[in-house]
Amino acid sequence: MSGREYPSSVDAPWAAAFERLADHCMTCPTCTAADDQAANLRLTCPEAVRLSRECRDARRGA
Ligand SMILES: [Zn+2]
Repeated sequence: MSGREYPSSVDAPWAAAFERLADHCMTCPTCTAADDQAANLRLTCPEAVRLSRECRDARRGA
């Protein structure tokens, strides 16, 4: 990854959590699972659920 061009949002408390979620979704076999038409299966991934909750909580300032 090279583009770290997020003016100010990098310093936001939720930025790290968001980055973890984005990273996970791009690399996790469950989150990227697709059917034979390349449609994302949107499988429920406990780790993605946890990371997105963490992200949401961080944005709320929890
Ligand atoms: Zn996942």
